[in-house]
Amino acid sequence: MKPEKHNKPDISNIISTMNYGETGKQMYRLIEELYPLCRSITGNGVRDTLRILKNHIPLTVHEIPSGSQVFDWTVPKEWNIRDAYIKNSKGKKIVDFKNSNLHVLNYSIPIQASMSFSELKSHLFTLPDYPDWIPYRTSYYQESWGFCMSHKQLKSLKEGTYEVFIDSSLQNGHLTYGEYLIPGERPEEVLISCHVCHPSLCNDNLSGISVVTFLAKLLASVAPRYTYRFLFIPGTIGSITWLALNEAVVPRIKHGLVAACLGDSGKFTYKKSRIGNTEIDRAVLCALRDFKDDFEVLDFVPYGYDERQYCSPGFNLPIGCLMRTPYARYPEYHTSADNLDFVRPLYLSDSFSRCLSVLNILENNKTYLNTNPNCEPQLGRRGLYESVGGRNNRVEQMALLWVLNLSDGHYTLLDIAEKSGIEFPTIQRASRRLLNSDLLKDHPEKNSRI
Ligand code: ZN
Repeated sequence: MKPEKHNKPDISNIISTMNYGETGKQMYRLIEELYPLCRSITGNGVRDTLRILKNHIPLTVHEIPSGSQVFDWTVPKEWNIRDAYIKNSKGKKIVDFKNSNLHVLNYSIPIQASMSFSELKSHLFTLPDYPDWIPYRTSYYQESWGFCMSHKQLKSLKEGTYEVFIDSSLQNGHLTYGEYLIPGERPEEVLISCHVCHPSLCNDNLSGISVVTFLAKLLASVAPRYTYRFLFIPGTIGSITWLALNEAVVPRIKHGLVAACLGDSGKFTYKKSRIGNTEIDRAVLCALRDFKDDFEVLDFVPYGYDERQYCSPGFNLPIGCLMRTPYARYPEYHTSADNLDFVRPLYLSDSFSRCLSVLNILENNKTYLNTNPNCEPQLGRRGLYESVGGRNNRVEQMALLWVLNLSDGHYTLLDIAEKSGIEFPTIQRASRRLLNSDLLKDHPEKNSRI
């Protein structure tokens, strides 16, 4: 067999030889490790999370001082918590932060006080519709304190005096985020972002962190065409801070994805960028189409994860959001039921593989020129029909014809995959064979302008 002339590094070879089952288990193990940490938008929970991620990827950790002005926002005071509980009149702890970090209203100010049940009650949060679950609540920008508990437990509480104790601090400190840049052949960037601010919640937060970490790990093992920037940031204030500090980088961002809610059993949901028909939007739709499972596509709305900031009108970046079941569409969302049972290694590996397919499309979406455009070249004479024996021969042959026909300098491989309805990897394989047979050549002008 002829050695490949076209030996530029890409991720497609790795994709086809990956052990997805094992990767799924590793991603799940990372979630197990991160699950107990009490994360918030600032504080040691985020630092400890990034420290653990550093076992996988060499992140740079940035510390931005409280009080820093970031567009219309101010980096808040740093929140840390050591302990918290409620004791009943007999001195028995009935709620203990050590049992679940969701028990404390995230960003609660410190308090130590005795109070009546009616006074305490106004600081308690429950979910009457799901009486066994503890809700996740925050109060970042309004100084307050509170506890979250199951509705069942609230019902069991009696009148009397209660002692509340929250050993937290809310002081000038830093907002912490992690960043990992993998230089590519070209300076144009792909931005992949996930939020790291939720405490013990698996699908909303940890699944995205884990999938993105393993994507970064894999990208570091190839020499990609694009430069990849991975962000592990607290939601909203993190992306606002990053954008405020990196306005000079923004013009280099050509594609991006926000990754969240990637470990549950639901079908994939892609929320398009604000622009709506950019290359990343089309690459995700093509990758999801190629897997032939049901999926849902949502138009951009100015609500959700950090795509809200990346797609704010001043930036309007080509960044979409890939999820399985979207935020707020599953009852376990923002509750103690978004736990280690709710996410599974199988769904994580499935999400990981979809993300890789998307990146493979971005990496290989090039424009070629047919070197023999006057009528069809004789493929049989070049052994091209035989070389595809054993595979789905007809589709492979059709892919050769589509690539030859549309490689007139106008169409990219993604255009061809869309028009032909043939899976992108098949189109990609066809282009490789045609390149190796000199029936196709690179379109340097188009491909240098990513
Ligand atoms: Zn959330």
